[in-house]
Amino acid sequence: MWIELDGWMAKLRFSACHLIPHHPKCGRLHGHTYAVNVRVHGTRTGEFIIDFELLKEMIAQICSRLDHHVIVAENDPRIRITKNDDSVVIDIGEKRYQLPIEDIAFIPIDSTSAESLCIYVAGELARMIETSDLDVSRLEVRIDEGIGQGAGCMIDLDDGVSL
Ligand SMILES: [Zn+2]
Repeated sequence: MWIELDGWMAKLRFSACHLIPHHPKCGRLHGHTYAVNVRVHGTRTGEFIIDFELLKEMIAQICSRLDHHVIVAENDPRIRITKNDDSVVIDIGEKRYQLPIEDIAFIPIDSTSAESLCIYVAGELARMIETSDLDVSRLEVRIDEGIGQGAGCMIDLDDGVSL
């Protein structure tokens, strides 16, 4: 059995800025509204697999770290990040961006593609669910980058992480 949340309808969304280094179009700084869609497979503990409200709170917590920020993939080998006291310089080939540090969400991923953001969000959510007493066997997450396109991944919680 599973339950699911549609991020657009359930308002599990965030708006953020990013770029894909060296991409002809997406290499320029730009933004999207993202939605986090989640399906949770498991066995009911009492009435629920997981209370919708609890699941929404968990996802909203992850969204709030990213919302209205510039997302920077800390492990992207194509970019060089120099952190100063209150600003950050990001070098990508010939391009140099200087941004206030408070505007940036540094995320430990290798790209800010929908695929990488999905792996990050799914991993964070899996950690939250694993610390609960819930009997969840599988987590499916799909991040929509605007309406009509997205990337999904799956984590089997019984046998550890498999993305
Ligand atoms: Zn984009």
